Amino acid sequence: MKKIVILGAGYAGLKTVVELQKKAAKTAEITLVEQNDYHYEATSLHEVAAGNVAPEHISFGIQEVLSPAVKLIKDRVVKVDPDAKQVELAEHAPLNYDYCVMALGFVSETFGIKGAAENSLPMANVDQAEQIAHHLNEQMEQYRADHNPNHLKIIVCGAGFTGIELAGALYDARKRLAKVAEVDPAAIKIKMIDASPRILPMFDDKMKDYAIKLMQKEQLTLQGQAAIKEIKPGAVVYQTKDEQLHEETAGTIIWTTGVSGSPVMAASDLPQRRGRVMVTDHLTAPDYDDLYVLGDVAAVMPPDGKRPYPTTAQIALTMGIYAAKDLAARVTGGQRPGPYSYHSLGTVASMGNTHAFGVAMGMKYYGYPASVIKKMIANKSLIETGGVKELLAKGRFDLYH
Ligand SMILES: Cc1cc2nc3c(=O)[nH]c(=O)nc-3n(C[C@H](O)[C@H](O)[C@H](O)COP(=O)(O)OP(=O)(O)OC[C@H]3O[C@@H](n4cnc5c(N)ncnc54)[C@H](O)[C@@H]3O)c2cc1C
Repeated sequence: MKKIVILGAGYAGLKTVVELQKKAAKTAEITLVEQNDYHYEATSLHEVAAGNVAPEHISFGIQEVLSPAVKLIKDRVVKVDPDAKQVELAEHAPLNYDYCVMALGFVSETFGIKGAAENSLPMANVDQAEQIAHHLNEQMEQYRADHNPNHLKIIVCGAGFTGIELAGALYDARKRLAKVAEVDPAAIKIKMIDASPRILPMFDDKMKDYAIKLMQKEQLTLQGQAAIKEIKPGAVVYQTKDEQLHEETAGTIIWTTGVSGSPVMAASDLPQRRGRVMVTDHLTAPDYDDLYVLGDVAAVMPPDGKRPYPTTAQIALTMGIYAAKDLAARVTGGQRPGPYSYHSLGTVASMGNTHAFGVAMGMKYYGYPASVIKKMIANKSLIETGGVKELLAKGRFDLYH
């Protein structure tokens, strides 16, 4: 039997396994390696970070969705040697493969900004999101003890998709946090700092203006066109358009300026940029047609060849479906699918539980209806990886407010 090894059980990796076990469990030996024993919905990390939902709410045990034919190894992947066709693991013997799927996802990217790694809180996995929630609670408790208003200040570095979704979730969290601090919710100040000349480039002007109005209504401050130069312990140093340097203190500083692909890609000596490998039209690494690279560690060029598609859970899931089909054909001797192609169904950004905006299936949505669409998108992802059982247990059914 051919050996297929899948690395990472995020959207791309778990979707590959779930599909592949239906098609090829009898013709291939399938092994999944993941550092956690759970799958988590990375698209909801901001909700955990704000403390609005528990980590269990956005995760489920991987074993629950695996067929008995699939072997699960809980370990950390160190690197892949594509020439030797071998995977090095932190605590297990190396694994040999005939086909390998690398789907190791994203890590927080500091772009080398001084002090960012040491003095701000990243939000790129469940542990980090939980740490943010814990830190926020501690700050509120400290305020209650010493009344230093700095404990009530939260700075979100970056006002991209993730930063804005986080700020919206923090707005929802204010009431609860204010109770801990024994203050009025309005006393908790949330500010985003972002360098780009225009926020939310994936949306048109009308939608961007809607987002800005919503931020104003929710008293979320946006310091735009401000390049972060350094993060000091408890302070962000940034430069505004007029070249003035500013230093702003806060009890909580969260880093959401960007992500890169897993460092395992560089450790494996694959041709990569910021942890992403430009894949072939069969989603394999250049020169290694037995090594699939999926999700946030991959760069997929659209037909116009201008810029790779943005890395999203949506594209990661479609890559998993494609890789499973292609692999199943290869191990069963069936007809391989044609080249991979992708059609985005749209993007919806949430700002708290009941507000959102975005485009889905070609239609624009704002406010509460958009928040319902956002929850339906999350439910669709959940059913894709966890099936009906996980959807019923963890789905978002609080559609009416
Ligand atoms: C707050 C937030 C909101 C987002 N919202 C959206 C959205 O609305 N829509 C959308 O489409 N996308 C959204 N995204 C982006 C989306 O979450 C990512 O594109 C998606 O998670 C990528 O999927 P993946 O399978 O490549 O990797 P991941 O989901 O990151 O999964 C990678 C898996 O690999 C495991 N792993 C990593 N390294 C190792 C190792 N060395 N050894 C073993 N296991 C390892 C991890 O534990 C994890 O289980 C959002 C992201 C964030 C942070």
